[in-house]
Amino acid sequence: MAKDDVIYEEDDFRDHLATVDEQGKRKWVYAQEPKGWYYNIRTVLSLIYLAIFFTLPFIKIKGHQLFQFNILERKFTFFGVTFWPQDFFIFGLGMITFLVFIVFFTVIFGRVFCGWACPQTIFMEMVFRKIEYWIEGNHNQQRVLNNGPWTNEKIFKKSLKHTVFFGISFVIANTFLAYVIGLDNLIKIISEPIALHLTGFIALLVFTFVFYGVFSYLREQVCIAICPYGRLQGVLLDKDSIVVAYDNLRGEQRGKFRKNEVRAIGDCIDCYQCVKVCPTGIDIRNGTQLECVNCTACIDACDHMMDKVGLPRGLIRYASENNIIKKEKFKFTPRIKGYSALLVVLIGAMVFMLVSRKDLDTTITRVGGMLYQKQANDSISNLYNIKILNKSREQLPITLKVENAIADVKVIGKNITVKGEETATSTFFIIMPKKEINSRKTDLKIGVYRGNIKIQTVKTSFMGPLSD
Ligand code: SF4
Ligand code: SF4
Repeated sequence: MAKDDVIYEEDDFRDHLATVDEQGKRKWVYAQEPKGWYYNIRTVLSLIYLAIFFTLPFIKIKGHQLFQFNILERKFTFFGVTFWPQDFFIFGLGMITFLVFIVFFTVIFGRVFCGWACPQTIFMEMVFRKIEYWIEGNHNQQRVLNNGPWTNEKIFKKSLKHTVFFGISFVIANTFLAYVIGLDNLIKIISEPIALHLTGFIALLVFTFVFYGVFSYLREQVCIAICPYGRLQGVLLDKDSIVVAYDNLRGEQRGKFRKNEVRAIGDCIDCYQCVKVCPTGIDIRNGTQLECVNCTACIDACDHMMDKVGLPRGLIRYASENNIIKKEKFKFTPRIKGYSALLVVLIGAMVFMLVSRKDLDTTITRVGGMLYQKQANDSISNLYNIKILNKSREQLPITLKVENAIADVKVIGKNITVKGEETATSTFFIIMPKKEINSRKTDLKIGVYRGNIKIQTVKTSFMGPLSD
């Protein structure tokens, strides 16, 4: 048997999930706490992510939240700039760009997002699992506790753990809602009588129970069976994708290490440390698997064992299959070039749309059921409705000018003023001298001004008495 074939030697692991037994029951993963360079870096990064996650909804500039993702009203605020349903094209393009970026990133770096930036992994491994180690002890003590009878100690530890889990889930749910409905609305739900905000209060409880269920029960099953991004790995990864990989050429034939031995077989000492630390319960020595979230715990565990027996580190490391089997260095494949080109085009289009985005969204329509009106001084008028959405946060006084014809604008009632982040409607006449009208229908361009600054040009038509 060639060394290259070892990785495919026993494929029975592909027939079942590592977390399900032969009776179809869930096998609980008691992951050993990782220790090592990668784990330390991930801990520091996680603290930064958590600080950002719990701080962002509380940052306001001029009384407005810096980030808000108001799905209900379809209003999204990034760095204080609010995008409205009318900015749908920017938002749609942003989503496509984000997806292409994720695909592109995954093709090159595999599932690195899952291990290093996914909120599920960060909360599960860096918050909830650490609390579990703190209350219930290490992985072995947890197993003994779970399998043992309900003693006072077990009741105390389980009650304490689930109370803390529920409390943290409640905090996460509050923060999550602050992103969605806004901090001010959240404070009202919390501080005012429940009857006034029953829907919001129920939503808060539902999210709390969802997070509690995910982190206390579902756990790795979210990554293994629920997350759609995880399901996509099969089509996104190729033999050049860099993933957490076991170097089977170097590691096989595996065998126990004996003190002072001169190693005549592979470097894997079959210590199972990489399996014990894996939060999804897999054996990375079987090759890249959909369950692997690239958390790097097995790298740390294996490096530690290599240090102990005096063998070089990196038996498990970030590498592509071609990197290991063919000793190839990273190369720009046609697929990567294609995604890069697409990403550049999409980012260019996004930048253009963002730069050309207007503060106003104006709709002008002729009032239905009327053609034109005869006015004094041998003039003709048309009546129009105008609807203006002010996407900025300032109150804007608006004036209208006809840009491409000699014609006056006469607003009915008060001058048009639109409050910040609100919509205003009004009605106005366009009055044109009869001698300027050359056809039954004249295309007009209306300039929408704030003072002397033109913000937008809107097209409409003017109906006159002459036939074409
Ligand atoms: S195989 Fe390694 S990197 Fe993948 S999930 Fe398990 S411990 Fe993490
Ligand atoms: S930790 Fe390293 S040496 Fe130990 S079983 Fe895993 S791959 Fe082999």
